[in-house]
Amino acid sequence: MSDASPPFLPFALPEIGDDEIAEVVDTLRSGWVTTGPKARRFEADFAAFLGDPGLHCVAVNSATAGLHLALEALGIAPGDEVITTTHTFTATAEVVRYLGADVKLVDVDPATLNIDPAAVEAAITPRTKALIPVHYAGLAADMPALLAVARRHGLKVVEDAAHALPTTCGGALVGTLASDATVFSFYANKTITTGEGGMLVTRDAALAKRAQVMRLHGMNRDAFDRFTAKVPSWYYEIVAPGFKYNLTDIAAALGLHQLKKAHAFRERRAAIAARYDAAFADLPVLRPPQPRAGDLHAWHLYVLRLADGAPCTRDELVERLFAAGIGCSVHYIPLHLHPYWRERYVLTPAMFPHSQRAYERMLSLPIYTRMDDADVERVAAAVRTALG
Ligand SMILES: *Cc1c(COP(=O)(O)O)cnc(C)c1O
Repeated sequence: MSDASPPFLPFALPEIGDDEIAEVVDTLRSGWVTTGPKARRFEADFAAFLGDPGLHCVAVNSATAGLHLALEALGIAPGDEVITTTHTFTATAEVVRYLGADVKLVDVDPATLNIDPAAVEAAITPRTKALIPVHYAGLAADMPALLAVARRHGLKVVEDAAHALPTTCGGALVGTLASDATVFSFYANKTITTGEGGMLVTRDAALAKRAQVMRLHGMNRDAFDRFTAKVPSWYYEIVAPGFKYNLTDIAAALGLHQLKKAHAFRERRAAIAARYDAAFADLPVLRPPQPRAGDLHAWHLYVLRLADGAPCTRDELVERLFAAGIGCSVHYIPLHLHPYWRERYVLTPAMFPHSQRAYERMLSLPIYTRMDDADVERVAAAVRTALG
């Protein structure tokens, strides 16, 4: 019996090479498996990657943890409001609730699906303390406008850069901009991965110090410090009820090698995006926005939107692709549609027309380095067949 159908093409797959595997094995053999020399080195390498000597990098076990630590260090507390986009993953907003503060969701720019600076300014109240832009899909948010709004109103800015390694804005890497903190994700499907992991980046030495203490129980010295210092010491002090957010050396071992490949990975994803753009030029779709001339798009996601006159709905297109053995996804079900956010803040789709309209018509196609050219052509052909 012959089955001619090709194997299922997953929506995302990490690319883990022999270097990563050897480094993890080395870590396992070393006897130091939790936060230690490799997490330290990963922080130093990350700072070097961003290329700005003024930056502090704090490795954590997720971007969610990093966002939580950044807001905690900035003093976000009950009674405060933090503005973010409805068109994101819930992690961006949930960390505000961890601290007992309130979330103000706003709509996106329909061209980029990034948070709309005018909507941010309109949502500011006397309680507003901070703003969390998301570089959606890997395209930089309008940081010059957002930073100007923040400056005018005295708001802190924490960038959710979970999609944005590497992304540039006005020629500068995200992570080096004039915000208070920037947080990257190394979750399994992100542009580089440590399985689970994240990096909090800041120019503010006091913020970095607070995050370092709070990522490990509120201890003023971590285990690596205590057992490797010139005068080894069992002594430490608890200065706050901290969290358990430290990155293990096993995870950092992966990150050391993934980081070296970050630009090459991006170039491959950009090539896939360019191939899709060409293949879909004559279809009734909205292709993803391009970065400004000279800027880098991380291409974490390739998001296609059905235009008026498309011959099928988004759900039908997802079904047809799935039937052709191709995984795809939707980024995101906007927060205003989820029961928790909808009910807590009494939200309706009419309050977020651009996000809502995009959501109803969007899907994310596979875009990852382990796809070969034949995989890319297969996806392009399946989309063309479905919409042709
Ligand atoms: C993945 C993601 C996060 C959370 O990252 P973790 O490392 O899984 O905690 C936050 N925000 C956005 C936009 C994401 O895509």
